[in-house]
Amino acid sequence: MSKLIVANWKMNGSVNQVKADLAAYSASQSTNQPGVVLALPQVYLPLASQLLTQLNAQFKLASQNVSQFNKCGAYTGEVSADMLKEFAVDYIIIGHSERRQIFNESGSVLLNKIEAALLCGMTPIFCIGEDKSLRDQHNYTDFLVQQLELLLQIKLPLTNLVIAYEPIWAIGTGVIPSMEQIDEIMQLIHVFAQNYLPHVKVSVLYGGSVNGKNAQDILSISTVDGVLVGGASLKVDDFSKICAY
Ligand code: PEP
Repeated sequence: MSKLIVANWKMNGSVNQVKADLAAYSASQSTNQPGVVLALPQVYLPLASQLLTQLNAQFKLASQNVSQFNKCGAYTGEVSADMLKEFAVDYIIIGHSERRQIFNESGSVLLNKIEAALLCGMTPIFCIGEDKSLRDQHNYTDFLVQQLELLLQIKLPLTNLVIAYEPIWAIGTGVIPSMEQIDEIMQLIHVFAQNYLPHVKVSVLYGGSVNGKNAQDILSISTVDGVLVGGASLKVDDFSKICAY
């Protein structure tokens, strides 16, 4: 398996689920792979990193969020990239539409978070995506390019980057774009990366209502380097099917 499959548990799970699911994933050839990344709630990452060692697992861990502040200090409730790095976290999801919309994360906050991840040697999974009204008005490509342009403000050296295209209208709705619509945006992101980030290894993911039934078709699009999976990643059977594409 060469594509990247990222599980975003969002604010779900329990200690028992972490123990059971990680044991199941480490026992299966399709999921015990470095291309499988589990983005668990931060509170479960210490346990997950212990299990990773105990189970000799190959899959990787991601955080769903990171503080925009790097230095320890008076930031009640925040968790820094340095702290996450102590628990074998390799990736950080940044710019998810839920963080942009519910927590009002602006471009400058997202940029700080990307730089915090990079400073600690972690790979950002930067999410972009338009809402239904932009899609219906057919001006979603300008909007997506605008979201991508934030990446041009990164001042730190950048070698690896994951960009996830997650149309908001497809997240948690059971509606997915057509394969042509997915391919159109994958190409747009690849071209942007080739033009403006030529020295960076960029992987482009699709996210939004991916499940065991549609993953095969989506992952067979040549421009899709992987998928970001929300709801279906909470069910071992469904997620294992996706990883066995
Ligand atoms: C997500 O929110 O990142 C996501 C892809 O969710 P779902 O798979 O449930 O649509």
